[in-house]
Amino acid sequence: MIKTKNKEIYIVMYHYVREIKKSKYPNLKGLEFEEFKKQINYFQKNFNILSNDNFIEIIKSKKIPKKKSILLTFDDGFKDHYKYVYPHLQKKKLFANFYAPVLTIKNSKVLDVHKIHFILEKELNRDKILKMIFIYAKKFMGKNQDQLSLNKINTKSRYDDKKTVLIKRLLQNHLPIFYREKITNKIFSLILDTNEEQFSKKLYMKKSNIVELYKNNFSIGSHGYNHLWWGKISKTKQEEEIKKSLNYFKKIKVLNNNFSICFPYGSYNANTLKILKKYKIEYALTTNVGAVNYGNIKENLTLPRFDTNDFKN
Ligand SMILES: [Zn+2]
Repeated sequence: MIKTKNKEIYIVMYHYVREIKKSKYPNLKGLEFEEFKKQINYFQKNFNILSNDNFIEIIKSKKIPKKKSILLTFDDGFKDHYKYVYPHLQKKKLFANFYAPVLTIKNSKVLDVHKIHFILEKELNRDKILKMIFIYAKKFMGKNQDQLSLNKINTKSRYDDKKTVLIKRLLQNHLPIFYREKITNKIFSLILDTNEEQFSKKLYMKKSNIVELYKNNFSIGSHGYNHLWWGKISKTKQEEEIKKSLNYFKKIKVLNNNFSICFPYGSYNANTLKILKKYKIEYALTTNVGAVNYGNIKENLTLPRFDTNDFKN
């Protein structure tokens, strides 16, 4: 557990929050709902839990409350957030921000990053998955394992072993996008033996869920349209991602003036920041690790967060 202190704000990031051990996917890397409830109790006892509006007031006034604070953020629009998180936080009269990519709300596709999580959940033999990647890289790209510049991949990680990181890096960003999508799809269909659309409907919140959250005073923010690495795509493409997501949220009436953005994969560059200024986004969240304090409060478009795991005992 990290050390916390007064006059600091901890933006906490969550992904999967569900009953994992008893589920069909017991090896999924996520937070058990029981642990989540304990963590929320701990936060309630020791911190101010801020609403999005509270947080924006702090950003604007640049006055950080003396008592240490928490802002709860939930990425990727999982059904978990509707099924477990939302009723629990509502019961406790707490606030949170939800960042769902538009593609997931439309409920027909599963994001590659999540396909990879479920591949890793189902097939615990990492060598077997790597072997499949190499077989399909050879088949689709005509490239052998030794031509894939594996030595250029950084396999350091805060949470995963080297082979798991290698699988994630290869399928998330190392291989050219066209091929990595093809390879991920192939391995997902072989290992999961499921229909992508059905799987997507179970995995993600639908439009009415998002609208319900918003109507019950939870905040919705943008996590882009297609969940791409913004730092690696053109300015035009980035602007399209942001604009299309804002338009969608406007259309379903969950967009107000206090709108924030959470970068998919935490990825951004100088162009991203220009676009956020143009669209008058109040603040944006990265996956850089740290607290918000007087040292960085002015950098409202690149705020750091902590992972829920950083608050585990
Ligand atoms: Zn995400």
